[in-house]
Amino acid sequence: MRAAGGSLLGAATPNASRKEEAALATPMIAQYLEIKAANTDCLLFYRMGDFYELFFEDAEIASRALGIALTKRGKHLGEDIPMCGVPVHAADDYLQRLIAGGHRVAVCEQIEDPAEARKRGPKAVVRRDVVRLVTPGTLTEETLLDARAHNFLTALFRSPAKQGSEPGYALASLDISTGELIASSVGAGDLSGELARLKPGEVLAGDDLAGDAALRRLIEEAGAALTPCPRAHFDSQRGERALKQRLGVAALDAFGEFTRAELAALAGLLTYVEITQVGKAPLLRPPRKEGAGSLLIIDAATRANLELMRSNQGARTGSLLAAIDRTVTAAGARELASRLGSPLTDPAAVNARLDAVAYLADQPRLRQDLREELKQAPDLARALARLALSRGGPRDLGAVGAAIRAAHGLGVSLAHGAGALGLPQELAGIRARLEAAPAGIEQSLAAALAETLPVNARDSGFIKDGADRDLDEHRRLRDGSRQVIAGLQATYAEATGIKSLKVRHNNVLGYFVEVTALHGTVLSKPPHVELFIHRQTLANVVRFSTPELAELEARITQAADRALAIELDIFARLTEAVLGEERALSAASAALAELDHYTGLAELAVAENYVRPRIDASLVFAVEEGRHPMVEQNLRRSDGASFVGNDCALGDGTRVLVVTGPNMAGKSTFLRQNALIAVLAQMGSFVPAKRAHIGVVDQLFSRVGAADDLARGRSTFMVEMVETAAILNQAGERALVILDEIGRGTATFDGLSIAWATVEHLHDVNKCRALFATHFHELTALAGRLDRLHNATVRVKEWQGDVVFLHEVVAGAADRSYGIQVAKLAGLPPSVIERAKLVLAKLEQEDRVAPKGFEDLPLFAVPRKAPQEKPESAEDLLGAALAAINPDDLSPREAMEALYMLKAKLTGTHKP
Ligand code: ADP
Ligand code: MG
Repeated sequence: MRAAGGSLLGAATPNASRKEEAALATPMIAQYLEIKAANTDCLLFYRMGDFYELFFEDAEIASRALGIALTKRGKHLGEDIPMCGVPVHAADDYLQRLIAGGHRVAVCEQIEDPAEARKRGPKAVVRRDVVRLVTPGTLTEETLLDARAHNFLTALFRSPAKQGSEPGYALASLDISTGELIASSVGAGDLSGELARLKPGEVLAGDDLAGDAALRRLIEEAGAALTPCPRAHFDSQRGERALKQRLGVAALDAFGEFTRAELAALAGLLTYVEITQVGKAPLLRPPRKEGAGSLLIIDAATRANLELMRSNQGARTGSLLAAIDRTVTAAGARELASRLGSPLTDPAAVNARLDAVAYLADQPRLRQDLREELKQAPDLARALARLALSRGGPRDLGAVGAAIRAAHGLGVSLAHGAGALGLPQELAGIRARLEAAPAGIEQSLAAALAETLPVNARDSGFIKDGADRDLDEHRRLRDGSRQVIAGLQATYAEATGIKSLKVRHNNVLGYFVEVTALHGTVLSKPPHVELFIHRQTLANVVRFSTPELAELEARITQAADRALAIELDIFARLTEAVLGEERALSAASAALAELDHYTGLAELAVAENYVRPRIDASLVFAVEEGRHPMVEQNLRRSDGASFVGNDCALGDGTRVLVVTGPNMAGKSTFLRQNALIAVLAQMGSFVPAKRAHIGVVDQLFSRVGAADDLARGRSTFMVEMVETAAILNQAGERALVILDEIGRGTATFDGLSIAWATVEHLHDVNKCRALFATHFHELTALAGRLDRLHNATVRVKEWQGDVVFLHEVVAGAADRSYGIQVAKLAGLPPSVIERAKLVLAKLEQEDRVAPKGFEDLPLFAVPRKAPQEKPESAEDLLGAALAAINPDDLSPREAMEALYMLKAKLTGTHKP
């Protein structure tokens, strides 16, 4: 991450020593230094002809990052100037690598014709200026972006803690490549979850905030680059003004109620966009207000844990998203991802979405037709965004036209597909927006654009013949002259008697006559020397020009230049017309994305045999024969095995289910599938089960006794405890909590005690729905006295000394842990297995494995405190904890953990 120094974001005046340096430099270097001084936090791509060149330190950084040659160009203050360069036509590729490497790039272009500069004198330098800052959060190029993922730029504002309100954060997020704009607010504890939901490429924060080490780490963990901005940019009044002006409205009320803090975040966002886009205004869709009760709260750890967007390996493959994605367009895939990341909590809203999926699931013909037509719809949102920033090309115009045609076609198909009762509300809304796609624009585009289109307008040839009389005329002139030239070859051959004479063209000489060296001497003598002007002698050929050729060439160039100018003019007019209809086009593009996502979910439901969940405001969680979406698909792919569906019934009678069973039995799978089913249901998808009834969940927590997290410098146990603490402190009655083998990271009795107390707390204080998998059989005893706690176990069979996994979850407790049988399956040497059996037998004899007395532990003997009660003083806690430690019993690692724990108690970060 690079900190902004005296950058564009701050003061833009070069300091005194730079000025002196500039005075001593050549005019070009002086210009370079001045521009560079205003962009110290960026690598400066300085346009020189067909190259972007980098100088001084930038050249050293870029040549290292890109693996390109570092050379020298001229001298400055007596020293060689380091230099490297990248060709303009391949710049995207290099940009992508620099951005991925955490750099920012200022693109500096020539902003006048070199001929203009020459008029000012022989030493005058062509005017140049920065036209754009390329940063991770402001990309629009297809080559720089993942087509199927959003790329948000998120501005963060910390709202001051006022009386009666807890401190929190306001976020304003813009995907500049589609124009989507979202405002949201979260409590401080939910920030990591919100960042995980949005997954921004770049986060903006005021200088004051950016210095906060904990916040920096959070942003880094979310995978975003942090850009500090002047605090003054976060001004709520300015934000409100800017937004109203950009949206052309007098009041923002129509879009939702924005808090002061959200407006401040919006201000920071829009200011940064203005600076990085250097005056170009990106597409802005009306802002959407999210969060504040309408979304299921899922923290970052839970998202990672459940592999919602990425698998544990960090890839999209293997995630829930990949398992359910049946969309056929990139925009549809983005819509699916954002809905999966933000499940709803309002039963009516969820049911409206489910109505749409159900409707399409029931109509295979309609669904198939829609999917075929959707495949024809290009990425309208991204094409529009590029056009708005003047980074678009003919291909983007073509995409707009094709998307409008697809929208109309889909509108008709939906109209035909509407039954007697009409379309469900969501689909009816989509249909209306598709039909409203501006037909006039489509007609003008179709009338003007050629069949095949270049990416860049300057490549010309994208306006079809017959579209513009003037253009046709100049093209005729150009082509006519070319024909004349082609005819000249025969004329010259005849006139000179040289049959092998050729008329050729290259970029240096233009059109020329080429003959062999032998014939060259002929043309250099009278009478031919009158007509043929010698230009070049190569090894085997000699080249000449003629006045006639030169004149024709000038005519061709003129006509071609004129034709290009006309094409560019038409391009500008078409672009303007498209942007004039931006609202309707944005609405249509959103409708296309939504429709693709709904048909994709319907396709999934049918292909994978998912059912519509019943969603309401109860506290029921009843899943019959539920399956794990990813494990199910994996099993089928790898060995054709089928997944064993399992019931999960939580609700009035059961609040906490304690799941025991040997390793590899399927405990973790069972826990997670239920969390995934909740997520799927509330995003509006069918679910992998025979039946499901879910009273909406408002917070979802999932924790696993984690592997050592050395990278973050925290031990397993510490991570586990920090995360468990977060759950016990936050989970409310509507939460769904999944705890998998909590307490595994420490000594047995410690772990068991913590697991024990945790379950009690969930049952009595949090009162939420919870699934708790554990290898501590002792916990099953709790069922005897916590009335809403029940036991479940995953069945295994023992057969000829081996264990067979049945993957069936049934009521009751596991009889034992089968650890040795599993170890045998895993291939431990037979001698070790035999020895382990002996040790176990001995231990069981001595009754060490299942110490008696848990059944007798009086439920209320240990005072269980609600969180709001007065905490013990740090000294009390320390004393008690110290007394409980026996140094001789500790491994070095346990000693370290104990130290951490004691220290945390002292500083009070260790909440009771
Ligand atoms: P545990 O947490 O009890 O150690 P896991 O949940 O990790 O066990 O499951 C181990 C493996 O068993 C999984 O990777 C999966 O291949 C298989 N498995 C789990 N549950 C089922 C099931 N219901 N049907 C079929 N296979 C399953
Ligand atoms: Mg497990």
